[in-house]
Amino acid sequence: MEFKLDNLVRDNIKKMTAYSSARHEYTGNASVYLDANENSFGSPLPDNFNRYPDPLQSQVKEKLSRIKGVPPQNIFLGNGSDEAIDLLYRIFCHPGRDNVMIFPPTYGMYEVCAEMNDVKVKKADLTKDYQLDMEAIENTIDPFTKLIFVCSPNNPTGNSIDRTDIETILNNFDGIVAIDEAYINFAKQKSFIAGLTEYPNLVVMQTLSKAWGLAGLRLGMAFASQPIIDLMNKVKYPYNINTATQMLALEALDNIEWVNEHIATTVVEREKLKNELLNISGTEAVFPSDANFLLVRMKDARSIYGQLSDKGIIVRDRSKVTLCEDCLRITVGTPEENKQLIEELSKYKSN
Ligand code: PMP
Repeated sequence: MEFKLDNLVRDNIKKMTAYSSARHEYTGNASVYLDANENSFGSPLPDNFNRYPDPLQSQVKEKLSRIKGVPPQNIFLGNGSDEAIDLLYRIFCHPGRDNVMIFPPTYGMYEVCAEMNDVKVKKADLTKDYQLDMEAIENTIDPFTKLIFVCSPNNPTGNSIDRTDIETILNNFDGIVAIDEAYINFAKQKSFIAGLTEYPNLVVMQTLSKAWGLAGLRLGMAFASQPIIDLMNKVKYPYNINTATQMLALEALDNIEWVNEHIATTVVEREKLKNELLNISGTEAVFPSDANFLLVRMKDARSIYGQLSDKGIIVRDRSKVTLCEDCLRITVGTPEENKQLIEELSKYKSN
């Protein structure tokens, strides 16, 4: 098999002319801007909020480039990594004809975006130990499979997917392999970012929503070859990352020590919480986690979920999800939050 990007891209995307904004056409530093129908008198806010933001977010990409070791032209920024997921569908999947592959149980947006874009989803469930079923994958891929989503560490199971299996897919599938690394900072596994020079069909997605603690900022990243990034920029909304997000991201990205410190704390708390959960009488299993949450199998998971939420402690009920029967997904909280959770669970079980 041979990977040819041109064969994968939808014809309409190839042919379309991207919207060209005022800030696209003139990128220098002028003193009088009368090109974009902005409000020349300013705004009620300080800074440059009356001006449209940089459509290609060059300053944020410069900083990210240094942190990630990836050239700016290999970085796409989106309104959360959810935007990157959706754009991959729009670029590569012909509605009503093409399909994508996912490996349940996994992150829900891959399927939501498929439905939204009228693209079929082919599923190869994970094995019992939440790894890829390579034989099922091989038997399920067909000539219309354009995209494969691999979530590693996986949500909601928490484990990393075996690297050699992902490499096998990258080496043998001639469509796009999108590796969702939303939780990679909490993992022992290394990112696939270093593989970008090796695999032309690789897209790595990351986000500031987890380890960086910035879910409210809405900043997701995709790393890929320049032709793929150019396509993503072609189809995105012109000003998809607003001025406030760009300004605050620039500020936040100077604080990598904060992030590293809290990754370490989260991992310590995760292991502590795991041991405490194992001591709860209703706990049947706590699955190995490389993320900032734990998947826990409990007797009567659904009723425990209700009991906890009555006390104002909200976890994620995954008990109806394939291969997660009787499971709750619990985010690692602060030591105080984890203590409250464990106290509540112990009470419930001793009743
Ligand atoms: N991928 C995975 C695996 C996730 O769990 C999430 C959010 N829960 C996302 C992507 C989306 O992240 P963002 O906030 O960047 O849209």
